[in-house]
Amino acid sequence: MFSYRHAFHAGSHADILKHFTLIHLVKYLQEKPGALTIVDTHAGAGIYSLQDGFATVSKEADGGIIRLTQYIESCNKKNIPVPASIEEYLQYIQVENIDGELANYPGSPFILARLLRPQDRLKLFELHPKEIDILRHNIGELKQAKQIDVYAEDSFARLKGLLPPPSRRGLVLIDPSYEDKQDYRYLETAMEEALTRFATGCYAIWYPAISRRESAALPDRMKKIATTHKRSWLHTELRVENAPGERRLQSSGMFIFNPPWTLEKNLAEALPTLVKALGIDGGAKFLLKSFEA
Ligand code: SAM
Repeated sequence: MFSYRHAFHAGSHADILKHFTLIHLVKYLQEKPGALTIVDTHAGAGIYSLQDGFATVSKEADGGIIRLTQYIESCNKKNIPVPASIEEYLQYIQVENIDGELANYPGSPFILARLLRPQDRLKLFELHPKEIDILRHNIGELKQAKQIDVYAEDSFARLKGLLPPPSRRGLVLIDPSYEDKQDYRYLETAMEEALTRFATGCYAIWYPAISRRESAALPDRMKKIATTHKRSWLHTELRVENAPGERRLQSSGMFIFNPPWTLEKNLAEALPTLVKALGIDGGAKFLLKSFEA
């Protein structure tokens, strides 16, 4: 159960899609002054070195954040316009890299922490015995630490107890590793419970778009839950290649319940650039669909 370490995947194309979307969701929800509670159900270590440790073994950042940064730099040099939302996303990565060199990649806890306003709260869950210690240490270094609770608990079991948040304004990121096939089932139960208790919350789910049966079925399962609870949804995927064998992750997706109305336009502007920047073969493409309840 504890074989997954997110450091192997830090800064990958999948992280880019997830964190790009996440920043837009938080910024939109912060347009109103009321306190926002953000729950990150699967936190990981918080921030990752790209220069030593697991990330240097897998080198997934080479095809992700490093490739995207170089692509945007070359567009800027040639005066080719790039979506402002991509530049904004890159700023949240650059904040963790003081001298401009890409030495670190922030995970969702650091990106979310940097976005917190004084009235907001962040709740992080992490079960891995090593990751939780690293996460606690990393969060302790942040000036926002007092606004952040870190739980070494099973978030699928705990989520419903946190909903609705006192302010009734909430964003939940659900980002399991899916190494355990049960995660697909736990996700469905957690979403049913969450929408029953807090129907108006914004929920962002990441998943690997792979040929495994449970993964292929996930978007339709989520749509069914949204229909039952009469919720709007947005579904997006970013595929960087379509090679036989799926030896590495080629595509990932996000499913959002109660998406802000601005998200679809933002993704429609950014995804073509992300496909151009990160695409490896002719199979690179994106998917973007939504439904308004
Ligand atoms: N959200 C992180 C990011 O974007 O930087 C990456 C998270 S990683 C994909 C998933 C993490 O969830 C792993 O570190 C794993 O140990 C942890 N995990 C797995 N099952 C969990 C559970 N039931 N509750 C809390 N954490 C869990």
